[in-house]
Amino acid sequence: MKRPAVFIDRDGTISEEVGYVNHPSRFRLFPYSSEAIRILNESGWLAILVTNQAGVARGYFSEDVIKQIHQQLESALHEESARLDAIYYCAHHPSIGEPPYRFDCDCRKPKTGLIDRAAADFEIDLERSWMVGDRYGDIELARNAGLHSALVLSGYGRGEWEYQRDSWKLEPEVVAENLLEAAKVIIERDAARATP
Ligand SMILES: [Mg+2]
Ligand SMILES: [Zn+2]
Repeated sequence: MKRPAVFIDRDGTISEEVGYVNHPSRFRLFPYSSEAIRILNESGWLAILVTNQAGVARGYFSEDVIKQIHQQLESALHEESARLDAIYYCAHHPSIGEPPYRFDCDCRKPKTGLIDRAAADFEIDLERSWMVGDRYGDIELARNAGLHSALVLSGYGRGEWEYQRDSWKLEPEVVAENLLEAAKVIIERDAARATP
């Protein structure tokens, strides 16, 4: 049976926006993220991380560093009984660095390749699914992939929302203080749709 998914951006959404996370020691999970993921797990939602990591294409760090950081993330969540169903990342940049990472790929958000991969790997009810992120590009991704959208005010979110949104062609469906509030609102809204 198809399940809905919440696609979650990484930097600024599940963890602090610190610029390039070029070493595992720079990764800082937000204190509420485990609870947010756990309530998605317990409510039957898929929780899937989707992140651009062009620092690889730029030569700042290797893909191995991304994998270490994601292992660290998964074990931190596990300690609090929370679990991501999958993590997908794009390490490419269309015009910077060296091949194979300098590549006009289909997976650099707001392109939909990461969502497409998830949809191939899981049975996802995309019409009920959401993208949550702290940047306008995450809202564009939601539109491109046919997902509902939530902007969080953590990371770049508050600045983008207060200072940039006049120039946006799209608005998020939900604006939430952080990932935990977004998860609660998404679950509530979905339940309200299901029971007329
Ligand atoms: Mg972000
Ligand atoms: Zn890519």
